[in-house]
Amino acid sequence: MTSRDKASNQLLDYKIQNTGKNPTATTGSGAPVVVKDATLTIGPRGPVLLQDGAFVEEMAHFNRERIPERVVHAKGAGAFGYFEVTHDITRYSAAKVFEHVGKKTPIAVRFSTVGGESGSADTVRDPRGFAVKFYTDDGVWDLVGNNTPIFFIRDPIMFPSFIHTQKRNPQTHLKDPDMMWDFHTLRPESMHQWLFLFGDRGIPDGYRHMNGYGSHTFKLVNKQGKYVYCKFHYKTDQGIKNIDAKRADQLAGSDPDYAIRDLYNAIANGNFPSYTLSIQVMTPEQAASSKVNPFDLTKVWSHSEYPLIPVGKLVFNRNPENYFAEIEQMALNPAHMVPGIEPSPDRMLQGRLFAYGDTHRHRLGPNHLQIPVNSCPFRVRTYQRDGFMTISHAGGAPNYHPNSFSGPQTDPVVKSVYPPFTVTGDVNRYDDTCTADDFVQPRIFWQKVLDQGAKDRLVENLVGSLKQASDFIQERAIKLYYQVDETLGRKLESQLNLIKRTKANL
Ligand code: NDP
Repeated sequence: MTSRDKASNQLLDYKIQNTGKNPTATTGSGAPVVVKDATLTIGPRGPVLLQDGAFVEEMAHFNRERIPERVVHAKGAGAFGYFEVTHDITRYSAAKVFEHVGKKTPIAVRFSTVGGESGSADTVRDPRGFAVKFYTDDGVWDLVGNNTPIFFIRDPIMFPSFIHTQKRNPQTHLKDPDMMWDFHTLRPESMHQWLFLFGDRGIPDGYRHMNGYGSHTFKLVNKQGKYVYCKFHYKTDQGIKNIDAKRADQLAGSDPDYAIRDLYNAIANGNFPSYTLSIQVMTPEQAASSKVNPFDLTKVWSHSEYPLIPVGKLVFNRNPENYFAEIEQMALNPAHMVPGIEPSPDRMLQGRLFAYGDTHRHRLGPNHLQIPVNSCPFRVRTYQRDGFMTISHAGGAPNYHPNSFSGPQTDPVVKSVYPPFTVTGDVNRYDDTCTADDFVQPRIFWQKVLDQGAKDRLVENLVGSLKQASDFIQERAIKLYYQVDETLGRKLESQLNLIKRTKANL
């Protein structure tokens, strides 16, 4: 028994901490329960009475236990901890979270896979969500990132279609390689992320051994109202560790909750995961003259041109006390920003500013920000009122603005960190699919970042998936990969042809 891990021993640990306390069971309204294991019946063999309020309440609550699953990022794990500033970046941002070296801010994190349902395996080839909630002195800041600095698409109108291709075929209810590869090969801007996904980092070894990235371009504004564009990177201090495809398949069968278990046990054993937060910055002038569109989520900013600037440490040292209350109900939203941090014109970010709040209103209701895990560290003073499940309220304060009755007033001090900015351009729907530009960074990734072993594994993983797609899609894919690199295209072509010849000879 002693050899069991902390997650397996959770109930035993609870018992040890609570032995002798023996609290009386109650109904939801607090009345003591006398008999817990039998309904109220007419005689030992008779029917149940409707007046059994304890049963009706228990059953009715049970019937409502599930809330809508997130459409994406449904399967996740979470924890709590702190962020500590190690380097001064006040020249870039007035955000209080970066106020001075040594400043600590409480944080929460939700890690996740993306495409699978809430019961799916943790070791699938899929991006990972890495979303951090900072409970700052200026309200909640959510940095809702992933384990990749880029994404498959750059326009949010593509998002529902893209995600449909990662989910189940509407007729067969099965994952469908034709859907995935059809979309990918018709939208080549997905190439960069596709290479990351099928490379070694496509299946991280749990959540402790992967990097996180804010992915989008943000804007940092300092006290003088001057701004720079910014990318956030949070690199693992545990070192990168990945799982190969074969082991991932085994774990999907033997321990589908591998990553949740790993995180829980590490924290329960006092082995707290940490990540180093850095930023890259780009001035508005650099952005205007940049060859690469700095707001295109399928591209990175070169490290040599925009070096990483260290900022601080994220440390996770507490497991949730209750998964549903604190992790399933955690409502992360990129629109939750604080003075000193703003959106950039990154189209994907702009789309997410709408989508996340909309999802939470659907899943959790209009008052989801009153749920303790989502609520701001100090009492908010809004003019919003009522709605389902109102818990915190403003008492007798006026519910309209402006007013003459001491209602909350605007903050003249933070005004300076919201400088006006200019936007120009012709209104249009700009669909810049498949520019030569889309192959430049994938080519660098293939040619310069990957060593020979990583290249071989990438090709093997691509072939393992692509061979399941229709022939015409395979042919389209091969042409596309030739545009990344001739050797890559040739390797894919020859391995797929070999598989076809072997099949034909069987
Ligand atoms: P560098 O050549 O300075 O560094 C290479 C980057 O690649 C490092 O950040 C490294 O992460 C990361 N990396 C290594 N192996 C993998 C993998 N299998 N999957 C994903 N990322 C990996 O970067 P440059 O800025 O000069 O860009 C060169 C290329 O590197 C880009 O075209 C892009 O494809 C890739 N890249 C760039 C990043 C950036 O923000 N600039 C971030 C990630 C990848 P680590 O340091 O943690 O080992």
